[in-house]
Amino acid sequence: MPFISKDWRAEGDQWIKTDDGNWERMKVIECESKNHNSSNDESSSSSPPPHCQIILRSTREIAGFNGLDVAVKRLDFKSSVKNQRRFQYICALLKLLVSGEVILTSLSGGAQRILLQMIEEVALHVNNSKQHINTLRDLVGQLRHLVEQENQKCWGKPLGSQNLWFGHLETIERIQNIASQIEIEPNAAINPQLTELPEECIRKIILQMSDHKDLESAASAWSLMAYIIQEQRIWRELSNFHFNQQQIDSILEKMSLLDTLDRHRNWQTIYHTLRKKYGLRDDFQYTEVLALCRFCRCLFWPMTGHPCISESPEFKEKLEKAGLSFESIEKTQLVPPHQFLKYFSL
Ligand SMILES: [Zn+2]
Repeated sequence: MPFISKDWRAEGDQWIKTDDGNWERMKVIECESKNHNSSNDESSSSSPPPHCQIILRSTREIAGFNGLDVAVKRLDFKSSVKNQRRFQYICALLKLLVSGEVILTSLSGGAQRILLQMIEEVALHVNNSKQHINTLRDLVGQLRHLVEQENQKCWGKPLGSQNLWFGHLETIERIQNIASQIEIEPNAAINPQLTELPEECIRKIILQMSDHKDLESAASAWSLMAYIIQEQRIWRELSNFHFNQQQIDSILEKMSLLDTLDRHRNWQTIYHTLRKKYGLRDDFQYTEVLALCRFCRCLFWPMTGHPCISESPEFKEKLEKAGLSFESIEKTQLVPPHQFLKYFSL
């Protein structure tokens, strides 16, 4: 059986000291500079779009694992924060990483640093765009909780290098400062103001909200919204958005409401029962979701694509010889944030 992985006696990666005094692998720097050139220099438009090949399963022969820091750089997450289509996806990933205590226990020092740099990038973007301030506040809250947890420890603190931890604390402080300075002033020049809109328009706005948390926040902000949110129609539409008819029927049957008119007065309770049993859909909140190519095992952004082996005529010929049609095979699979993290040994 051939041994495909690197020999443990191999010389390892080549490391280079960066301008900010940290160490980085040569291959990652090369990849970063390639991405940077592709975004700045039109003449190098032939450079491949951000993509990262991963190992789906480790075996005894291929004892590989994927590095989160390398994937984050190869997929150009740092610049993608400024991309409106990818912002929510990246923030959902960051939230999963920060809230799961993964940052201090399992990630490598380099991955921890990159993670915090990305949160700082999110803070700067929110500061400039004055949008998604709640997402930033959530992240800052989680970071504060992490620091408090670490400060309460009597033994074994800080985990890993002390200098690394002090560097993290400085970054977290900068992020908190940026977040605390953001102020969003209502623009008095906009006409008409929200409060001047007719009730039917407000109802339409409320019908666009995607979950009960947004509805509750809207209700606490304005009495007219609180009044509209009491309408059962709002909750019925929300239930139909998140759950299929089979799930709704099963709950109606359980609540003995299937064939009665009483169900029209109970949609809020029905929604919450459905939510507790089946959970809410979360894919609607991301405009662009990372995809995994089944042919070359590359993670990539669907809008920009990736260089794929399936594009070569030889590959299509091989498929035809095997009696498979290229069109009939599902080529890609979407990778939600929690699935993305499963590809890494965290
Ligand atoms: Zn591919």
